[in-house]
Amino acid sequence: MIPVKSYAALSKSTELEPFAFERRAVGEMDVLIDILYCGVCHSDIHMARSEWGPALYPLVPGHEIVGRVAEVGAGVTKFKVGDFAGVGVFVDSCRTCDCCKTDLEQYCENGMTGTYNGYERDGKTVAYGGYSSRIVVNEHYTLRVPFTSNLEAVAPLLCAGITTWSPLRYAGVGKGHKVAVLGLGGLGHMAVKFAASFGAEVTMLSTSPSKEADAKKLGAQHFILSTDEAAMKAAANSFDYILNTVAAPHDMNKFLNLLKVNGTMLLVGIPPEDSRISAAKLISKRRSIMGSMIGGIKETQEMLDYCAEHHIVSDIELIAMKDINAAYERVIKSDVKYRFVIDMSTL
Ligand code: NAP
Ligand code: ZN
Ligand code: ZN
Repeated sequence: MIPVKSYAALSKSTELEPFAFERRAVGEMDVLIDILYCGVCHSDIHMARSEWGPALYPLVPGHEIVGRVAEVGAGVTKFKVGDFAGVGVFVDSCRTCDCCKTDLEQYCENGMTGTYNGYERDGKTVAYGGYSSRIVVNEHYTLRVPFTSNLEAVAPLLCAGITTWSPLRYAGVGKGHKVAVLGLGGLGHMAVKFAASFGAEVTMLSTSPSKEADAKKLGAQHFILSTDEAAMKAAANSFDYILNTVAAPHDMNKFLNLLKVNGTMLLVGIPPEDSRISAAKLISKRRSIMGSMIGGIKETQEMLDYCAEHHIVSDIELIAMKDINAAYERVIKSDVKYRFVIDMSTL
C-alpha cells in the first residue's frame, strides 16, 4: 500500500482539511504518479457539498491532475519513470461495452469509474482524487502530457479543456459559425479559446461586466451582459450554437431565445437544480439542446496534442493547498480568473 497525503471533505458542511490514506499497490498495468498540480473544478465543489446527491465521505476532490510518473507496472508500455502524465475525470470503465470499445468511455454503459466520490471497479477500493500527493491509475486511463513547462496551466485541460473541446468538435464548430459561450469561468474561458481557435465568431454571454476585456483577450469578438435586457433582445435569433457552462440555477429559456433556426445549445454546466424548458422556445425555431460529458481518453489525448501544437493552456491562479476553502468561496462568487490550480508541493 502507498501512503498518501491529501485534503478531504469529511461531510457536506465542513471545510476541506488534511486527510491521510493509502493508495492500492501498483498493479501490472498501473502507473504511480507524483502529483505536481491539480485544478479546481466547480464539480469538485458540487460533489464535496453533496449538491448532486449524497457524496461518499471522506471525499478527496480533484480531477485535473498533472504529475510525474514515479513507478510503472511490469506491463506498462505508454509511460516510463520520469514522464509527465495527466489524469482527468475518470480512472476506469468496463472496457467491454459498445461505448468503451468506441473510445467513449465517459458514457460507459456500465458506468465509468470517477476519479473520486465512488469506488473502483472492485467495488471496495475508494477512489480518491487529485488534491493529494500521489495517485495510482491504469495506464489506459492516463494521458500523455506533451508539454515540458507551464504544467500548472496544463492541468485544467484535463476537465475544463476536454469538456468544452468535445461538444465543439462533435458539433463541427468552425469558420462561418456564430458561437456564444455562456459563463466565463473555468470551462467558459477554455470554450472561448477553442471556439476562436477553430475559426468561429465568438460572443461572450456573461453576468459579470468586469470580464469584458478578458473575454476579448481570450478570443471573443463580442460581449453581451446577460442582465442587459435590451442587448439580449437585440441578440435574439442570432447564434448557431450556445455553449452553456453555467454552474448555478438560471433560466435557460432566455438563452434559447438567442439561437437561430436549427440552433443548438451545447449544455455542459450542471446546476444543482433542473431548469424548466419551454417547449415553444424549441419548437418555434427547430432549436435543440445537446448535453455533453467530458470526453473519451482518445479524444482527450487529441485535445492535449492540439493544445501543445497551438500553444493553448488555461489562464490560472496558482494557490497553496491550505487556501482551497477560500478558493471555493471565490469560485461560487464567479470570482475566478479563470481556474484555480493547487501547487501540490504545498501539501
Ligand atoms: P465556474 O468556474 O464557477 O464557472 C461558471 C460561470 O458561470 C461563472 O464564472 C459565471 O460566469 C457563470 N455564472 C455563475 N452563476 C451564474 C448565474 N446565476 N447565472 C448565469 N451565469 C452564472 O465553473 P466551471 O468549473 O467552469 O464549471 C461549470 C459547470 O460545468 C459546473 O456546473 C460543473 O459542475 C460543470 N461541469 C460539467 C462537466 C461535464 O462533463 N459536462 C465537466 C466539468 C464541469 P460569468 O461571471 O461570466 O457570468
Ligand atoms: Zn471537472
Ligand atoms: Zn463500458
